[in-house]
Amino acid sequence: MLKVEHIGIAVKNLSESISLFEKLLNTTCYKTEEVGSEQVNTAFFRQGETKIELLASTDEEGVIAKFIEKKGEGMHHIAFEVQDIHAEMGRLAQQGFRLLNEIPKKGADNKLVCFLHPKGTNGVLIELCQELQPDAHTL
Ligand code: ZN
Repeated sequence: MLKVEHIGIAVKNLSESISLFEKLLNTTCYKTEEVGSEQVNTAFFRQGETKIELLASTDEEGVIAKFIEKKGEGMHHIAFEVQDIHAEMGRLAQQGFRLLNEIPKKGADNKLVCFLHPKGTNGVLIELCQELQPDAHTL
């Protein structure tokens, strides 16, 4: 794995948390993006090599809403950047880790992502992410 790409934080109110983190990090949120498949709105901050991703549920039945209901707001996942997500998923599956999705899915911020079940990782939800190449037509 290359580095900690971002840390995901579950929040109840995205706009309130955006202003909070803008004050905390002394930087502005550079992107917000809705990920329909995950029922979340996300907001991103750059902090050196690493990003902070705020996640707010768009649906009261969504995974983030359920997480907050159970555990309250707070750290939700750590995302590691990988060079080849398919290879890394294969390696981890072979090591006995449980992948939450068998094929990489399109996540926020132009990434292919895969999550590992937190039961096998000391309770920490781990995300693998690989930057997608920008579409050739947009270059
Ligand atoms: Zn993430």
